Amino acid sequence: MRRVFVAGSINMDVVATADRHPKVGETVAGKEVHYFPGGKGANQAVAVAKLGASSTLIGRLGTDAFGQQLRQFLAAQSVDLTLVKDTADVHTGTAVITIADADNTIVVVPGANALVSAEDVAAPVLAKGDVAVSQFEIPQAAIAAFFKRARTAAATTILNPAPARPCGRDLLDLVDILILNETELGLLAQAELHDTDEPVRFVEAARRLPTASDKIICVTLGKRGVLALIGGEPMLIAGRVVKAVDTTGAGDCFVGALAAQLANGKPIRDALEYANAAASICVQRMGAAPSMPTAAEVAAMRG
Ligand code: ADP
Repeated sequence: MRRVFVAGSINMDVVATADRHPKVGETVAGKEVHYFPGGKGANQAVAVAKLGASSTLIGRLGTDAFGQQLRQFLAAQSVDLTLVKDTADVHTGTAVITIADADNTIVVVPGANALVSAEDVAAPVLAKGDVAVSQFEIPQAAIAAFFKRARTAAATTILNPAPARPCGRDLLDLVDILILNETELGLLAQAELHDTDEPVRFVEAARRLPTASDKIICVTLGKRGVLALIGGEPMLIAGRVVKAVDTTGAGDCFVGALAAQLANGKPIRDALEYANAAASICVQRMGAAPSMPTAAEVAAMRG
């Protein structure tokens, strides 16, 4: 079995629920507070592991209580943590999330995640057919170094450029599969997109991305599903009709599920359909990492 290596962030998500979001300068009374393990890197690594693929996380934690709790949680999910470093004098990454009406707002304070370095990502021994995954919650220089190593080993590289941030063509050229939502596509393709736009608008924008046309580009469209460009040809996979309660982590579930399927040798079209089903399970539960489905749950959903 091929392995999935995820270089990325590890956060504690502090989640407050309320009937509505506060306006700027306003205070609203919340209903509940929860502490959920999160961070895009950790979420994606958990999704991979829960779906039964080999999952190794590369990242950094602080030496505080959140760091210890996260280490315990991730180990219990069968994520390999041998490449996660404890870093003194810096706090563990923390996200402050508010949820109201099944929509969320998020402030992320990177802490130890900002210190992930090119040296950190040089540690894993990648082999042909392994899958290297990263996102934009660690420095782009580390991601580039990671993908260069992966390319040398003939591993597949997956970039989820989230949260949306500009990046150069140099980095995109190291990517085999780009997975992004409407906001991230809008920023990287310099297109004004709205979530109600017709799919053709996303196809046009994806074709304008500053990267070679042989990449696989997957645009996740929330409840509308996912639009993929494979060899430049668009393919739309409709979203599953479910009752969403918390969309935090949906994109991460999608990325992790796709990576796990590719590591298990599945063709890209099957992997996309599988990831769409897995992510639709994730949105029916609270939290990010804890809401990732198991392989049995995805199998039941697909019937
Ligand atoms: P992100 O969380 O990165 O913004 P999306 O909201 O596009 O990502 O969601 C990622 C994937 O999760 C979608 O492509 C889809 O497969 C699934 N998904 C998200 N929201 C829903 C929903 N309300 N119903 C069903 N599936 C959903």
